Amino acid sequence: MTFITRFAPSPTGPLHLGHAYSAIISHDMARREGGKFYLRIEDLDQSRSKKKWENKIFDDLDWLGLSWDGPVVRQSEQIDRYKNILIKFRKELGLFECNCSRRDIKNALTAPHENEKLSGPDGIIYPGTCRGNMFLSQLNFENVLRMHINLSENKSFSFCELGLRKGEILFSSDEFSKTVGDVVLWRRGYPAYHLACVVDDSEQKITHVVRGLDLFGATKIHTVLNSYIGFKKPFYYHHRLICDENGRRLSKRHDSKSICKYRQEGFKASDVRALLGF
Ligand code: GLU
Repeated sequence: MTFITRFAPSPTGPLHLGHAYSAIISHDMARREGGKFYLRIEDLDQSRSKKKWENKIFDDLDWLGLSWDGPVVRQSEQIDRYKNILIKFRKELGLFECNCSRRDIKNALTAPHENEKLSGPDGIIYPGTCRGNMFLSQLNFENVLRMHINLSENKSFSFCELGLRKGEILFSSDEFSKTVGDVVLWRRGYPAYHLACVVDDSEQKITHVVRGLDLFGATKIHTVLNSYIGFKKPFYYHHRLICDENGRRLSKRHDSKSICKYRQEGFKASDVRALLGF
């Protein structure tokens, strides 16, 4: 099996030390294994994705000494691919059109669900208001589409974790429905991250997905999608998160930790590696 991995940043701001950490682990693994390291630009968020950030990603990776294989994939250039998967697997995914606003969802959740978990890796756990729309004759891609997994099958899911939580991670459809709920796969004209991610990982034949522990919950969603669509499951490697002085996970707002700041201050790529403990 050829080892194939990827780095999949969103061009919505500067790359910071956390991105560098992820990209270096992924790149070095691929090179060690004689495999491939791909670069995928996740630019589905039309309002926040900018060409200037994409160009900075190329510059920063270059400066870090990380070379990628093959052409860069841009998600915005293949919207039909994601749409076709939903059309094809509509039944398996239990797709339904959702007309609820955030406020509708919050209102439907008050009182009776007080002791239950209200939020999961896809946000607020959906109360099921629009599930009756599962059988509408055509999918309306101008609306929100959610998946609802069939609980009567009582399926169990698993993925293989090679990183921090090493082992076989198992969960049931019942647990998924209680802690994640009806995940949004399409959002008014555009695929949601979870859908695009599994379609691309499958299309690019990714064997190892390397990313931060903050996406561990998302991996459960991806495992469920892979199972219903019939995509091969990759191995997952979730790594520690790089935090600021106060122990908070770095975000795009942490300008001071951006790679280009380190560059401007005269750091070398080897200094950044050393800073990250490589
Ligand atoms: N675009 C996602 C991010 O930057 C990628 C997550 C992933 O590696 O799947 O967080």
